[in-house]
Amino acid sequence: MHPILRNERLSPNVTRLVLEAPRIAEIRQPGPFVIVHLGRGAERIPLTIADGDAEAGTISLVIQAIGKSTTDLVEVPVGGAIADVAGPLGRPTELPESGRVVCVGGGVGTAVILPIAQELHRRGVAVTSIIGGRSREWVIMEAELGACGEVVPCTDDGSDGLPGFVTPALAHVLAGGVGGQGLQGGNINLDIEMSGVGEHTAVLHHLEVRDVDHVLVARSRDDKVGLRGGDT
Ligand SMILES: Cc1cc2nc3c(=O)[nH]c(=O)nc-3n(C[C@H](O)[C@H](O)[C@H](O)COP(=O)(O)OP(=O)(O)OC[C@H]3O[C@@H](n4cnc5c(N)ncnc54)[C@H](O)[C@@H]3O)c2cc1C
Repeated sequence: MHPILRNERLSPNVTRLVLEAPRIAEIRQPGPFVIVHLGRGAERIPLTIADGDAEAGTISLVIQAIGKSTTDLVEVPVGGAIADVAGPLGRPTELPESGRVVCVGGGVGTAVILPIAQELHRRGVAVTSIIGGRSREWVIMEAELGACGEVVPCTDDGSDGLPGFVTPALAHVLAGGVGGQGLQGGNINLDIEMSGVGEHTAVLHHLEVRDVDHVLVARSRDDKVGLRGGDT
């Protein structure tokens, strides 16, 4: 059993659960996920390991409640428990050791970039995180990502940060409008790394451009998580 130590609403449909999982907390790397089984009769679902604390023996899962399994999970109160948490599964994300990286995520996809931004920051890589949501209350993890470097929030309605989706904000950052040194074109080298399996696989696109060494975009194959704000 994995007791829930914290249950915190991050946005109207996204919740962070902090739970005991000492072995996973100790060996986790950025990118992988766990398979969570709430209990008898429940489905087993994959969730990215959003954060962890090896000393405390805990991991964080950031969950968008969209169907039965995810809704049941976010309703587990502090003091409740999840029966099984299997993992870490999937390949760790390959990350550079130096340079400047722009991480892009929207809605619950923001949680996917947090462990990546944390590891990049630990390595001394300069990180800019572009995070999106429909409006201010849908933008999550600004403080956590702020501890890793520069954060550029954007909202569809302009209530926080840059107005619009994360995509024009990325173009803006690459053009040197936020941080950066006035990028002017450069070779773009697209290479896609898969992190997990299935319809909702998180995909990281690595674009190499001048002045910015990598761009990591967290999204699902069908765009339901990530760039569109995770608001399905
Ligand atoms: C690698 C990976 C990482 C992910 N990380 C995250 C993350 O960090 N955060 C996040 O929010 N999401 C994440 N997802 C997406 C998440 O796994 C899905 O949202 C989740 O699996 C579906 O949850 P649900 O509540 O919609 O499922 P449900 O509606 O419960 O459906 C789950 C399965 O059960 C079946 N089912 C449901 N009800 C019934 C029923 N009554 N009878 C029979 N079958 C039924 C469905 O057909 C489906 O196959 C990730 C996905 C992947 C692949």
